Amino acid sequence: MSATKPRPRPSPATGDEGAGIEPGKEGAAPQSFVRAPPAAAASIVRIEGVRKRFAGTTAVDGVSLDIGRGEFFALLGPSGCGKTTLLRLLAGFEQPDEGEIFIDGEPMAGVPPYRRPVNMMFQSYALFPHMSVAANIGYGLKQQGLPRAEIAARVARLLDLVELGGLGERRPSALSGGQRQRVALARALAREPKLLLLDEPLAALDRKLRERTQLELVALQRRLGLTFVVVTHDQEEALGMATRIAVMEKGRLRQVGTPEDIYERPRSRFVADFIGEVNLFEGTPAGAEGGLVWLDTADGRLAGTGPSGAIALSVRPEDIEIATHRPNATNVVVGRVEGARYRGDDMVVHVRLESGKAVRATRLPHAPPLPADADVFLSWSPQDAVALAE
Ligand code: ATP
Repeated sequence: MSATKPRPRPSPATGDEGAGIEPGKEGAAPQSFVRAPPAAAASIVRIEGVRKRFAGTTAVDGVSLDIGRGEFFALLGPSGCGKTTLLRLLAGFEQPDEGEIFIDGEPMAGVPPYRRPVNMMFQSYALFPHMSVAANIGYGLKQQGLPRAEIAARVARLLDLVELGGLGERRPSALSGGQRQRVALARALAREPKLLLLDEPLAALDRKLRERTQLELVALQRRLGLTFVVVTHDQEEALGMATRIAVMEKGRLRQVGTPEDIYERPRSRFVADFIGEVNLFEGTPAGAEGGLVWLDTADGRLAGTGPSGAIALSVRPEDIEIATHRPNATNVVVGRVEGARYRGDDMVVHVRLESGKAVRATRLPHAPPLPADADVFLSWSPQDAVALAE
């Protein structure tokens, strides 16, 4: 798993204050394009106790969830946890066995995909190779029977929106991966869905392009004031883009919250471990005092913050201090340096504790080197140790 070094931002910095183009709403007031993500707006999606089984598998297992208007909502989890199935249930490609889905206040039972105020962008993009970029983008509008001139005008606006102006006559095969991704996005936006569902939208892009495209996606979503629900298995992507994240495991929601909630205050070992690198210290409850909970672990009595009765402490590598002399700190463990790996923006140090446990701690890349096989003291603040009850 890659490092989750940059702490998630409260809301992604988008620099999206420029004039936006809302497809088909050319007369609309500009302020509608720069709406902030509304935390408390009425939900556009309501999922109530939804279950979906396939032969032998419960892909979605009793999920209830509200998604607010204008949110950039991420469904995050390992392969096979049911993310795509949940997205397909919203799109109408699957029907729930139990429970109900409401979109924009309307029950969706029996409503086919093309009658839902929803569009889905597929992982493969599914562009038509024999059609020009413009024809791809305008395809749904043609199906809808819009007049040709109107289609042309909307396609031109969409091309500008995704910064592909001038490339309308090319075939998809003559575009880069990132440009193809933007064509797929423009096509998904063409019919002005209230809700856009994106299945691993950045999976086909290389790392650098993926990072840039993350920012572009967020800027576009906010400019248009649409609701995006994106499926990803990449925690950095979810932390960097989403207003809220639902972490799924085996068809269930394990935790729903802002990127900060999920990263800083995971409620279970599963979530802590899935979201970036953590060191988990397991133990037995040893009391609570002064806002701290104590655990007896193989590495001594350690303190953290969280529910009393916790059975593990989760500590991020970047919150651990490494010293060659015993520091005066609440949580101190002793070990030996096994190696260090330079990662560009930091250095990850592997330490073997006296208990045999392996711990990772990060340091600044240019910190003075630790002697090989050095005995070291690792310490961290109880505020940085999240106590987990699950
Ligand atoms: P990935 O990240 O690998 O795409 P996912 O989280 O999107 O995974 P789903 O595609 O929703 O997971 O699948 C959830 C479970 O349901 C898996 O065990 C999968 O094998 C099963 N499943 C999904 N679609 C079907 C189907 N049409 N028939 C049978 N089983 C299915």
